[in-house]
Amino acid sequence: MSPTDTPLLSATGLQKSFGANRVLDGVDLEVRRGDVLVLIGPSGSGKTTVLRCLNGLETPDAGVVAFDGGPSVDFARKVAKSDRAALRDRSAMVFQHHNLFPHLTVIQNVIEGPVQAHGVPKAEAVANAERLLARVGLAEKRDAYPAELSGGQQQRVGIVRALALQPDLLLFDEPTSALDPELVGEVLTVLRELANEGWTMVIVTHELGFAREVADEVLFFDDGVIVERGAPATLFTRPEKERTRRFLDRLL
Ligand code: ADP
Repeated sequence: MSPTDTPLLSATGLQKSFGANRVLDGVDLEVRRGDVLVLIGPSGSGKTTVLRCLNGLETPDAGVVAFDGGPSVDFARKVAKSDRAALRDRSAMVFQHHNLFPHLTVIQNVIEGPVQAHGVPKAEAVANAERLLARVGLAEKRDAYPAELSGGQQQRVGIVRALALQPDLLLFDEPTSALDPELVGEVLTVLRELANEGWTMVIVTHELGFAREVADEVLFFDDGVIVERGAPATLFTRPEKERTRRFLDRLL
């Protein structure tokens, strides 16, 4: 394998239980640079928990999460705080609810991470934030507060906030599922543009049409395992497993 073939991220044997509830039962996945991986599956199948394990927000009971160039964290061993912080440094997560600070303006929300966590000089962080806001059509909302924005605009600020951290990997947890239907399109447009620009992304979504369009690989989860994976053209039209077929039949 040449160095460029090394996946940006690989997760192996992820296991996680909450009490007696086994939520992940041996999940393996790889994300290549520039690829878009889409996670689909019924509610409660473990998709969000996988995302959270990838960036150290959740601690799996076992399994390895390894980024090319480090860190490589084996969760079967005792995990240091610094390992978790190192994992978090490689990716940025966009949540279902935007999680913006209500008392900060748009620009203050966007520069908070780069300035506080990464020590970027404020002027540089502001210039970068303004450039990113312009890219998603929100330049004029720079000094607005989150409550003054529509749900779609808030979510676009959430995406800009993740981009401003300049992560290697973007993680999206159902980024449109809290939005009114008429606002979904503007957020999916931004995601499409990011995919075209070559960002590496893992996206949990129920928007199957969108998944089909942008995904390089789709993983179908059920009951804490990946039941089936493949290119969207194959998985959506000729799924091999009965469970995948049943799920798709309900949604397509
Ligand atoms: P999905 O994203 O596919 O809807 P999740 O990963 O959110 O699935 O959840 C998988 C299962 O784990 C669900 O049964 C959920 O209730 C449970 N779960 C998730 N987080 C916690 C938690 N912090 N404490 C207890 N149970 C949890």
